[in-house]
Amino acid sequence: MKKLIVANWKMNPESPREAKEIFNSVKRTALTLNKVNTIICPPAVYLSLFQSKSSKLTFGAQDCFGDLFGAYTGKIGPTMLRNSGATYLILGHSETRAMGDNDLAINHKLRLALKNNLKVILCVGEHHRDEQANYLQFIKTQLEENLRNVQRKSVSDLVIAYEPIWAIGAQAKGADNPEGFQHQAIYIRKILAAQFGKEAAMKIPVLYGGSANSQNAEGFLRQGEADGLLVGRASLDPSEFNKMLKIAEQC
Ligand code: PEP
Repeated sequence: MKKLIVANWKMNPESPREAKEIFNSVKRTALTLNKVNTIICPPAVYLSLFQSKSSKLTFGAQDCFGDLFGAYTGKIGPTMLRNSGATYLILGHSETRAMGDNDLAINHKLRLALKNNLKVILCVGEHHRDEQANYLQFIKTQLEENLRNVQRKSVSDLVIAYEPIWAIGAQAKGADNPEGFQHQAIYIRKILAAQFGKEAAMKIPVLYGGSANSQNAEGFLRQGEADGLLVGRASLDPSEFNKMLKIAEQC
């Protein structure tokens, strides 16, 4: 399986000019790699600025509305994203969950996106690792609720990103460690296997996200056996992100 390295630019950068600069630099590296597929998820307004003819470099959006078109001021539907260049769609990011997306809404958007030919990167992860291990049930519930009624035939369009909330962003304690991720990935696969069967579940990439950078990328990819990384802050610094892509090529 090729490694998937996903750049989540969030609401950055502030201008199309800066967006093109980051993109052009990442593109130069991404197209030279054979064992890595790079997915750039910029703000939706920038999607149509970028081109790539190679499956080594594709694009994703960061969220969508739960309908295709109509009287929904300010919203963007999955087919618009698809028609503007997105192949992937991030859903269930902890930041969109914090802004009001609940499990029911995420499940609705996820099924709508799959039905309309987007691949979905579903983010799950706990707020903290409590000693009673309630966080395990928390992740199980997220997966079960968010993937409810998703058919086995859709597994090739699914990616899971395990992103412990305590490890995400500038305020974070810092990244998880490779062993911590590996345990969680095994647990996630077990839950996926209960829904889709073991063989299908093994085909779903499970990525690590949360303060990933060029210092810790190798640990997650090698020891942690992550199928890839979901990268926030470090993806906005092209030299740092390109370093991560090259590390992934060696893992
Ligand atoms: C994220 O928001 O998905 C993320 C992983 O952010 P960061 O890498 O900045 O922690």
